[in-house]
Amino acid sequence: MPVSIDLKNPEDRPVVTASQELIDEQKKPLIGLTRAALAEALTEIGVPAKQSRMRASQLWHWLYIRGVSDFVRMHNISKDLRGKLEDQFTIARPIITEEQISEDGTRKWLMQFPARGAGRPVEVETVYIPEEGRGTLCVSSQVGCTLTCSFCHTGTQKLVRNLTSEEILAQVMVARDRLGDFPDADTPMGAIVPETGRKISNIVMMGMGEPLYNYENVRDALLIASDGDGLALSKRRITLSTSGVVPYIRQTGEDIGCGLAISLHATNDELRNELVPINKKYPLKDLMEACRTYPGLSNAKRITFEYVMLKGVNDSLSDGRELVRLLKDIPAKINLIPFNPWPGSPYECSDWETIERFAEFINDNGYASPIRTPRGRDILAACGQLKSASERLRKKNRLALEAMMIAGHGE
Ligand code: SAH
Ligand code: SF4
Repeated sequence: MPVSIDLKNPEDRPVVTASQELIDEQKKPLIGLTRAALAEALTEIGVPAKQSRMRASQLWHWLYIRGVSDFVRMHNISKDLRGKLEDQFTIARPIITEEQISEDGTRKWLMQFPARGAGRPVEVETVYIPEEGRGTLCVSSQVGCTLTCSFCHTGTQKLVRNLTSEEILAQVMVARDRLGDFPDADTPMGAIVPETGRKISNIVMMGMGEPLYNYENVRDALLIASDGDGLALSKRRITLSTSGVVPYIRQTGEDIGCGLAISLHATNDELRNELVPINKKYPLKDLMEACRTYPGLSNAKRITFEYVMLKGVNDSLSDGRELVRLLKDIPAKINLIPFNPWPGSPYECSDWETIERFAEFINDNGYASPIRTPRGRDILAACGQLKSASERLRKKNRLALEAMMIAGHGE
C-alpha cells in the first residue's frame, strides 16, 4: 500500500530545517535571485558597492552549496551584516505539508508557499523518482495551467498563479533537504560539488503548468540550479517540457541551454488541435521549424518528443509511420507515455500489446527503448496527474481510481 504521511501535525513533520516556521512573507526572498540581483539587494541594505559582489558570492555558497536556511550559520559574515540581512530578507524554505510514498518508491510532496507580492499562498506538488544510479525531480512551474490539453489532469485546474523563481528553485532545495542531498555542511568555499552520487541528478520541468508561459522565472531558477558554484546540476540533465509555445523555444536554447522535450501527442493538426489546443495558435509546421532550429541541437543533444498513448485515438501503426516521417530530419528521441488515467478522464490507455507494437515499429526506425514506465500512479504522481490540494481528489474518487487500477484499466 502507498504510504501517506500528513505533515500538518508538527509532531509528524520531519525536521527539515530549524527555520521552517519562520518564513516571513513581508521579507524579500533571496533564493531565486540571480547573482547580479543578489549583489544589488545587498547594496540596497548598505553594503558598499565594491564589496557587494564578494558578499553575494559568500551568500551564494551558503545558500546553494551548504544549503543553509538561516543567516545565523553564515559565520564568515559579520554579526552586524547578518542582523541586517535577517531584518530585510528571508532564506527560509517552504513547508512540506504532505508526503506520499508510492509502492515503487516515487515520492510526491505537497509544498506550501506563502503569499508573495500580489500572489496568494499556494500549494504545489513536486515528485521525486528514484532510479538505478540516478534520481529525477519533476518540478512545477505554475499552479494549474491556462492550457487545456484534453488528456491532462492539471489542465482541468484553472491557472491560480505563476510560481516565482524562488518557488521553482525552492522545490529543488526542499527536495535536497528531505533526501539529505546537500553535501557536507563543512564543504569549503570554492568547492565543486561532484556530479555523480547525488540523489537528485536530473530535473524535469514536467510538473504542473506550462514552463514557457512563465519564462523569466523558469529561466532564472534553472540558471541558478545549473550554476557550477552552487547546486551544480548539469544542463545536460535538465529537461524543459513544453506543449509547444513556439516563440520561446529558441530563447530557451539560447538563454538556458537545457534539454528540450515537446509534448507532441499527434502527428496532424486536426488531432493535435483537439489534444493539445495550443496547436491552433502554433501549428505543427511552426513547431517543427522551431525544433529544427533549436540552438545546440545535434545527435548528441536530441529533442525528446513525448507521445501519450491513447487507445483508438493516436496509437495505430499508421500514426507510428506519420510520427517517424514528421521527425525524419530532426535529431530526436521518442518517449511513449502510457496514458495515466484520472477520475473523469475521457480517454483510455492503449492496450499493452498495442504500445509494444508501436514501440517496436519506432525501434525498427532507429529510436531506442521509447516506452516511459509509469511511476507513482498509485499516489497520482505520474505525468499529467498532478493537481494542487485545493482541488485534490475526494476519497470517493481515490477509491474509484484504485478500483480502475485494480481492474487493470490503463495498465
Ligand atoms: N506543460 C508542459 C509540462 C508538463 S506535462 C507540457 O505539456 O509539456 C508533462 C508531460 O506529461 C507532457 O508531455 C504531458 O503532455 C504529459 N501528460 C499530461 N497528462 C498526461 C496523462 N494523463 N498521461 C500521460 N501523460 C500525460
Ligand atoms: Fe498544461 Fe502541459 Fe497539462 Fe497541457 S499537458 S494542460 S500544457 S500541464
